[in-house]
Amino acid sequence: MNDFKASAAACLAICVCALAFPSHADGLSSEQRNYLASLGKVKLCVDPDWVPFERINDHGEHEGIAADLLRLAASRAGFELELVKTGSWKESLESSQSGKCHILSFLNQTAKRDEWLVFTEPLFTDGNVLITREEHDFIADPATLSGETIVLPRGTSMMEFVKRDYPNLTILPTDSESERDMMIMVSERKAHMTLRSLIVAAYTIKKEGLFNLKIAGQIPKYENKLRVGVVKSEPMLRDIIDQGIATITPTERGQIVNRHVSINVQTATDYTAVIQVSAVLGLVAAISLFWNHRLRLVNAKLADLSQTDPLTRLFNRRKMDIEFGREIDRANRYGRPLSAMIIDIDHFKKVNDELGHPTGDVVIRSVAEIIKDCVRDSDIVGRWGGEEYLVLCPETSKDDAMALGWRLVHAVESHDFATGRSHTISVGVATAILGAEETPHSLLNRADQALYAAKSGGRNQVGWI
Ligand code: GH3
Ligand code: MG
Ligand code: MG
Repeated sequence: MNDFKASAAACLAICVCALAFPSHADGLSSEQRNYLASLGKVKLCVDPDWVPFERINDHGEHEGIAADLLRLAASRAGFELELVKTGSWKESLESSQSGKCHILSFLNQTAKRDEWLVFTEPLFTDGNVLITREEHDFIADPATLSGETIVLPRGTSMMEFVKRDYPNLTILPTDSESERDMMIMVSERKAHMTLRSLIVAAYTIKKEGLFNLKIAGQIPKYENKLRVGVVKSEPMLRDIIDQGIATITPTERGQIVNRHVSINVQTATDYTAVIQVSAVLGLVAAISLFWNHRLRLVNAKLADLSQTDPLTRLFNRRKMDIEFGREIDRANRYGRPLSAMIIDIDHFKKVNDELGHPTGDVVIRSVAEIIKDCVRDSDIVGRWGGEEYLVLCPETSKDDAMALGWRLVHAVESHDFATGRSHTISVGVATAILGAEETPHSLLNRADQALYAAKSGGRNQVGWI
């Protein structure tokens, strides 16, 4: 493909710099040197069509990010590469299995591949994203999807991972190794989604003009850690390549990636190409920014949902358990006062029975609002159960907590409820005994008994024991 034709002065400057000051792997032992001498050229199999990572160009040369990284590692470690040309990635895998090549250039490590390969440290790490049609919902967790299909190339590590981790997704394996074919299946609704590298996805969406596709989610744990695979019979070769990889600096890695992402802008007069590639780069940047932003919003939303009661928007019981533990610890450690109160709506069964459950919900919500309005900012309010609430009052003595309890009783009693009726609450108050090593359980127990006392005392009042 022409996109990858050789480069211009700017790139050369980078190459020259990189070659002028290499940090060579000078630690090869004499045994390693003898081994390399007897091995001869290292036979390399690659993916012939995986731009911008690697491909075999029209002149039969290996080029792309992987090619440059590997060549740099080879020159630093002191061995020569010989490309074994294949027509497909599948053929490359088979060639490495049958011993026609010593190494595979750029691949994820998987259990299956461990059967015949040993792997170097990563040459490059790249994130993976889920691509869907534009109208598909954002995917926070693929495990929650049902009845959806995902197209993935047969025999890839990604297919193995998805099969293992997301049995809820139906995999549509494809024999085509072309990114375009997979994206077109999604674009034409033959599959709900595919999972691809961010760099390759952005490149393909733009190149093919597939603008009805979008990046709908990410699987953070699925990173492509792209390594060199070495046939098991040559473990010393793996160690030598690792020595070469270890010399590649992050800056050199970044320069190599940039060179290939921007390589087709290198004709100074071709402004169309400049605009196109700027658009690709802009798209990559925009997608990353957009995705990070979405991810932050979704995480914040998930955190909020996991601690909020949906009916009242108060903290839920799970969150109150956490808060209670924290407040009791503080009260015990620093000898500070802490009061807890349980609030229960009186005769609530009657409300449900006579006015219906939805109206009961309205009353539960209104009482929540009243409680929120009456307490201090430092008090912690949650829904504890059906029509029960828990309020934690740090730095609050028994007398102050009783006074707050009564304020709540009066506020509810005098509230103009949407039901047209009056409703009341009973409150049980308990205060931590300093030096008694209270637990949430011990304090709640007393608050419960106090509530019981308020109920048996005639309701619409505050109880204390
Ligand atoms: P008491 O004065 O002794 O508290 O009498 P009560 O009728 O309020 O008795 P209790 O506390 O045992 O009853 C609570 C009722 O609250 C029973 C249940 O049907 C109802 N309830 C629990 N959760 C919800 C809810 O989310 N919405 C509605 N509408 N009702 C609920
Ligand atoms: Mg109750
Ligand atoms: Mg009740």
